[in-house]
Amino acid sequence: MSELVLYNSETRRKEPFRPITPGKVGLYVCGVTVYDYCHVGHARVMVVFDTFVRHLRAQGYEVTYVRNITDIDDKIIRRALENGESINALTARFIDAMHEDERALNVLPPDREPRATEHMGDILAMIETLVGNGCAYQADNGDVYFSVRDFPGYGRLSHKKLEELEAGARVEVSEAKRDPLDFVLWKAAKAEEPDEAKWDAPFGCGRPGWHIECSAMSTRCLGPHFDIHGGGMDLQFPHHENEIAQSECATGEKFVNYWMHVGFVRINGEKMAKSLGNFFTIREVLKAYHPEAVRTFLLSAHYRSPVNYSEENLNKAKAELQRLYGVLEAVPPGEPAEETDYEARFNTTMNDDLNTPQAFAVLFELAREANRTQDAALSGLLVKLGRRLGILQQSAQDFFRSQPGSGLSDEEIERLITERNAARTARNFARADAIRDQLKEAGIELLDGPEGTRWRRA
Ligand SMILES: [Zn+2]
Repeated sequence: MSELVLYNSETRRKEPFRPITPGKVGLYVCGVTVYDYCHVGHARVMVVFDTFVRHLRAQGYEVTYVRNITDIDDKIIRRALENGESINALTARFIDAMHEDERALNVLPPDREPRATEHMGDILAMIETLVGNGCAYQADNGDVYFSVRDFPGYGRLSHKKLEELEAGARVEVSEAKRDPLDFVLWKAAKAEEPDEAKWDAPFGCGRPGWHIECSAMSTRCLGPHFDIHGGGMDLQFPHHENEIAQSECATGEKFVNYWMHVGFVRINGEKMAKSLGNFFTIREVLKAYHPEAVRTFLLSAHYRSPVNYSEENLNKAKAELQRLYGVLEAVPPGEPAEETDYEARFNTTMNDDLNTPQAFAVLFELAREANRTQDAALSGLLVKLGRRLGILQQSAQDFFRSQPGSGLSDEEIERLITERNAARTARNFARADAIRDQLKEAGIELLDGPEGTRWRRA
């Protein structure tokens, strides 16, 4: 069996994976800040680590997968105030929505899902340790800052030099900092902030900064030193750099052995981001595409590469998935074939830093072979390996019946309806019926009435 090799962002090379405890893996992934619906960029991180955990488990590892929820943050406070809603109500609503999206995408829940507000004791204890050992200080404005100069390893993950950072750092409003690179661990409460956003602390009432939350929660759930830490590419700096600094200064131990970062979802060459306003929410996309088609799209690129969000690419993924289901329809799956070259190659490619595009290539080869030989055992193997990618988990019949909007845009639907009306006028009923069937398969229902034909997505 091939061994698992991971690209470690810190060393910038692929390394054989050696767990701290043989047979076990501790994995921490930075989760969502819950003030709005998740978008396709979030979906990619969820789907990639879900697929990674499925792979680890299939290889016999006992995995503890921790993914946190950031439920206190500037953006949350602002949004709650804007909505005239309590922070609790806002975050509860979007945590529910996130879980709903995940279930829809066939993302298995993490083993632990710690929330920052439920770990205030751990957060405060870590800040106290850092203040106590001189790695952090309280400024005149009441904020507590981490002193970057006191951690010699700073910049190790992002390969940034302090001098360059220093030159690039804007001298910010916060003149309370001793050094512009220092970052906040504890924000002193402000009068206009709601009581819900304030916690009592030895250094005064306030709330934690974002970075310290992850250091405290990962240490609580996995211990001070664990195997793998993951997240989106944009978290590498400063978030993960800061996590290393805080954790290693607080515990005196090496924090993490392997860092995995997931590439951006791009639209027209730009990163999909809430701050840029160019995002599609998961639920928007799922109105038009089957969830397994979305997974196929997200896993069609290697996790470290950017992936371009476009109708063209989603339709391509959809067509590929339909091809696989087409085989399952033609060759009803039986007990999966055992010890095949296909499964061995699938595992080898997944062991190679989770090379999902290659894993799909193996699935397509297997599908062709199953179709050619009409072998139910190969078809069964297709289902078994599909599960590892979170796809092919419906019967072919259910899949083809449950196609949502099928990527048909409103314009395409209108055009087909116009064409159908023209066919009816020309008494070409065969063509008219074929279009009706095509729309029906795409989940579009036609309502013929005196004012013409209306339609709705089923
Ligand atoms: Zn984090």
